[in-house]
Amino acid sequence: VNRIADILIVEDSPTQAALLSHLLERSGHRVRVAGNGQEALAALRERASDLVITDVVMPEMDGYELCEAIKSDETLGEVPVILLTSLSDPQDVIRSLQCGADNFIRKPYDERYLLSRISNILTSRELREGGKLQVGLAVYLAGDRHFITSERQQILDFLLSTYEEVAQINEELAAKNAELEARQAELEAERERAQELVNVNRAVLDAGTDCIALVDIEGKPFLNNAAFRRLLGEFPGLTLEGSLAENVAAVSAVASDPEGFRSFCHPLLEDPEFEGQYEFELRDIRRWLRLATMPVRDASSALIGRIIVLREVTAEREAERLKTDLIATVSHELRTPLASVLGFAELLLARELDEATSRRYVETIADQAKRLTGLVNDFLDLQRIEEGAFGLTPEPLDLGDILREEVELFSSQFTAHVLTLDLPEEPLPMMGEPNRMSQVVANLLSNAIKYSPEGGPVDVSAREDNGLIEVAVRDQGLGIPDSQQEQVFTKFFRVDSTDTRQIGGTGLGLALCRQIIEAHGGEIGFQSAEGEGSTFWFRLPREPAAASRSGE
Ligand code: ADP
Repeated sequence: VNRIADILIVEDSPTQAALLSHLLERSGHRVRVAGNGQEALAALRERASDLVITDVVMPEMDGYELCEAIKSDETLGEVPVILLTSLSDPQDVIRSLQCGADNFIRKPYDERYLLSRISNILTSRELREGGKLQVGLAVYLAGDRHFITSERQQILDFLLSTYEEVAQINEELAAKNAELEARQAELEAERERAQELVNVNRAVLDAGTDCIALVDIEGKPFLNNAAFRRLLGEFPGLTLEGSLAENVAAVSAVASDPEGFRSFCHPLLEDPEFEGQYEFELRDIRRWLRLATMPVRDASSALIGRIIVLREVTAEREAERLKTDLIATVSHELRTPLASVLGFAELLLARELDEATSRRYVETIADQAKRLTGLVNDFLDLQRIEEGAFGLTPEPLDLGDILREEVELFSSQFTAHVLTLDLPEEPLPMMGEPNRMSQVVANLLSNAIKYSPEGGPVDVSAREDNGLIEVAVRDQGLGIPDSQQEQVFTKFFRVDSTDTRQIGGTGLGLALCRQIIEAHGGEIGFQSAEGEGSTFWFRLPREPAAASRSGE
């Protein structure tokens, strides 16, 4: 079917020309190449070709002009011309028709199409010999009117070729579409895998108790975990939106040591490689946080931001403080009674003493040993509280009975103080552990007496109010300075003054009282004025059921 022809290629790009001539020669055609329009005309005048294939876009004389020149030449007019056009605009078709081209081929061309188009042209050329009919028609395209005078056959060829192109473009589009759909599905699968990974990462992040936040290289937050978001709610100053610099400023405003916090954070803001740890206290809520930070890199080890890990270390801090306090208190409070036990025991051993003196010494030893036992018990109680092993076994009791017992006991021991008890006539029923309730009352009474070194009245009263039993122990002793009132219930805390330093104590009594009262669902507090005295009170829920049960 292949018709061998003599073809002239007009193409300013030598590479394109070489490719095309190679293709044509492979199909058996004879090929000449011209680099521009003028060369092409000269070559044709020397020897006419069976077909001219010309590029449209060429310098000086473009493909249309060349085509016009060929078509208007007396001797060359019959040589068919195929334009190579990118066909990016319908105008290209009009322009091709106007210049008298026989057909066009869309660039980049498909080899099969190119060859079949050439063979069509060569065939129809032969069929067309003879009957030529010029038609003139106006074509409107994008609002412009174009006038075409072409041979009918040429227009027909163009029409068919255009359809062919459309069909080919459709095919190409369909292939592209299928490709896109496959790619889309791939992307979707990839996206799902990535999402899964993100979910796993997130779950791992959120499962931890450390508060983790990531900021990008500009210091803007871009990731945080559940623990971090919980922390935000609890601690003033931290925000989710602010930049790192803004957060540093906000936190330093609420830190106990703003200067220290800022100077730790300074290199963190300046140097993206900075790595470090810092512990700081939040002033108003007296809680400690440990901040650890380091740079974060991606898989290619490029710096992408910074990780910030915050952990509350209040409990650790507290434990450390307790340890120091404990050692200080133990060394002081155990040493004094131990020294007198040892001292008097040595005296008893070393000397011949009369009976009365010996007895006095032995009594002192016994007193001091009792004091030691009390101290050890307090320490053990405290330890149990610290370990959360502070179990209560409440039973129905009348708080009035306990108050009467304790006041009586203390009255007989301390004659320098006048103890009074003011109780309502009805019983004060409640659910409680009798030993623990006695411990609280004894502690408050002992403090009232201890911290009134000059003697004086100690008034105990109890009343029932609105379902609550309220007990108050009032003394007219040293009182507690305003500045130290806040810490009175803190373990190991003792008011620091010349008067109180003379008086022995561990600072554990009130801490224990508070634990016991709170474990019974009550609350404890005091009013005090320095030099005037103190009133310690506690309130507990009255349990009428307790009374009827005890009455059974
Ligand atoms: P301790 O009496 O062993 O020191 P507490 O926990 O019972 O320990 O009391 C803590 C501190 O509170 C005491 O050291 C004392 O300074 C102060 N305090 C307690 N009760 C009174 C009171 N009734 N009057 C004045 N100060 C008191």
